[in-house]
Amino acid sequence: MAERTAALVTGAASGIGKCVVERFAADERHDVVACLDLDPAVDDLADSLGEGVRAYECDVANHDAVGEVVAAVEADADLLSVVNNAGVSRYFWIGDLEPDEWDRVVDVNLKGQYNVTRHATPPMFQREAGSVVNVSSGAGQRGSASGGVHYSAAKAGVLGLTKGLAKQLGPHVQVNCVVPGLIDTLMSESGLWTESEIEAFEAKLPLERVGDPDEVARVIEFCSGPGAAYMTGSIVNVDGGGSLS
Ligand code: NAD
Repeated sequence: MAERTAALVTGAASGIGKCVVERFAADERHDVVACLDLDPAVDDLADSLGEGVRAYECDVANHDAVGEVVAAVEADADLLSVVNNAGVSRYFWIGDLEPDEWDRVVDVNLKGQYNVTRHATPPMFQREAGSVVNVSSGAGQRGSASGGVHYSAAKAGVLGLTKGLAKQLGPHVQVNCVVPGLIDTLMSESGLWTESEIEAFEAKLPLERVGDPDEVARVIEFCSGPGAAYMTGSIVNVDGGGSLS
């Protein structure tokens, strides 16, 4: 194993992914934290966190472009940790859901995780060390009224991808999945939910509130680290108890 190790976080520019990057940068477990995002704001994040945190502007749905990012990271550090977090959610009634819209949402939320995993995990498997954390959604477990059915389908696919990979990549690479409930990020603020819908949703939750992105990030950090040494194929809900109803 090279002396230098790296983590790769997708969807790093905002919300949950940004909190994961801030945690990885602070805990100094890795020499390099590679931040992949479509949004150029990822450059500002990397600049603000200093040396070792590197930005890659890239569409996670682009198989070859993701391969170039992974190769650039691997050029001087061994990837040890991957967080597949990039996602996009949009509502369309099924009758208005055009094939291009279906393809885009599935390409970002599901194929994007395949793209990253395809390029990143073979070297990890060969080196016999590494972890992958995939981010799904309660929409993938129970369906979603506010996200479209394409989002629910893609996020359900992430659960299957996680379990299949956990079997294929054992015993060397652990693959787990974190399932956020409603979290206070740009995604939940993007008009998918009205204020009164959020209040009604909170009233039904055992913890009676939406989550903070860092409350998800800290579980992702745990699942990426040594504390999760005997976990693989696990689906971990971070949802204030939303999966109980
Ligand atoms: P967010 O919108 O704040 O962050 C998503 C990030 O992904 C953004 O920085 C965005 O630019 C990036 N991204 C989008 N498309 C991309 C692409 N094609 N290539 C690269 N990057 C891309 O949202 P968030 O809430 O932090 O979402 C993070 C993850 O959590 C997503 O997978 C989302 O589906 C999941 N999730 C969120 C909630 C919630 O309530 N916020 C609930 C369940 C699941």
